[in-house]
Amino acid sequence: TYTLGPKISDWDQKRKVWLSENPGFPNFANGKARILLVTGSPPKPCDNPIGDHYLLKAIKNKIDYCRLHGTEIVYNMAHLDKELAGYWAKLPLIRMLMLSHPELEWIWWMDSDAFFTDMVFEIPLSKYDKYNLVIHGYPDLLFQQKSWIALNTGSFLFRNCQWSLDLLDAWAPMGPKGPIRDEAGKVLTANLKGRPAFEADDQSALIYLLLSQKDQWMDEVFIENQYYLHGYWAGLVDKYEEMMEKYHPGLGDERWPFVTHFVGCKPCGSYGDYSVDRCLRSMQRAFNFADNQVLKLYGYRHRGLLGPNIKKIRDETTTPLEIVDKLDIRRSVNGKT
Ligand code: UDP
Ligand code: MN
Repeated sequence: TYTLGPKISDWDQKRKVWLSENPGFPNFANGKARILLVTGSPPKPCDNPIGDHYLLKAIKNKIDYCRLHGTEIVYNMAHLDKELAGYWAKLPLIRMLMLSHPELEWIWWMDSDAFFTDMVFEIPLSKYDKYNLVIHGYPDLLFQQKSWIALNTGSFLFRNCQWSLDLLDAWAPMGPKGPIRDEAGKVLTANLKGRPAFEADDQSALIYLLLSQKDQWMDEVFIENQYYLHGYWAGLVDKYEEMMEKYHPGLGDERWPFVTHFVGCKPCGSYGDYSVDRCLRSMQRAFNFADNQVLKLYGYRHRGLLGPNIKKIRDETTTPLEIVDKLDIRRSVNGKT
């Protein structure tokens, strides 16, 4: 069967030696695990040219979040493995980054169509000390219902370790484009509740793997739903005004969602489950909602959640540092330095 590359079985040992030989590249610094945010988009321009503008908005949003939280970010546009094109492209990419950056403790994949909508919230990494995969989802949807949306692979974290390499190896074989992916799609549709008939996708394949080999993997998997590591857009984008009235960033849950993910929207491609117009308007809203949190420090906000126009929200003063003390997100989160 298909493999992601030569079998590696001594990664934990090799990485440990490397870390001890390279103290300038620690996997933990100041008590914090080193984490890399990884995202990307197809190598070619979008079929629908406006899609490229939305990819730009989406990467600006991620750059802002990463800057505010001191997180490194990688944007990939290459197909490292032609067989794993499309939504499967994240698998060889994650593996390559783990092996090329032994200093990373965590790799955090985020789809291009997912926006940070809480610019203050931080992932509570220490909660996951004993786990190797952190993914948003619901255990009852997974184990009782065997639903194809029990977990979401639009935003998840992998620890850089042998276990993760093994999981990637077990996950990949349904991915190769063509007859293998098509046939695997039939198996997934037959076994997962609610799944329409189509080729194998990475999300269904992961769910199927974790269900069919529960004992082997689940001890190291943390299913997160205390905050929106992934948040399904349709239930969120119409509530932003209400959230702004009642709550504040930093909560990460339904009161102020950490991530709004445009599942089923394909502004870049030609086919999606929702109208392109509704998707684009909703993405603009998510973007502005988030961008307002960034602009606040500079004294501006968007006029509304839909358009590009901004307005001033305060007069400049002769004491700008008071604003910095009050509003700089970096210090309210990491602060106390
Ligand atoms: N992707 C990529 N290269 C590709 C196709 C997709 O890096 O050639 C990434 C992109 O970030 C995208 C994610 O894979 O958001 C998931 O793919 P897709 O958008 O097709 O699925 P969806 O997000 O709609 O589930
Ligand atoms: Mn997506």
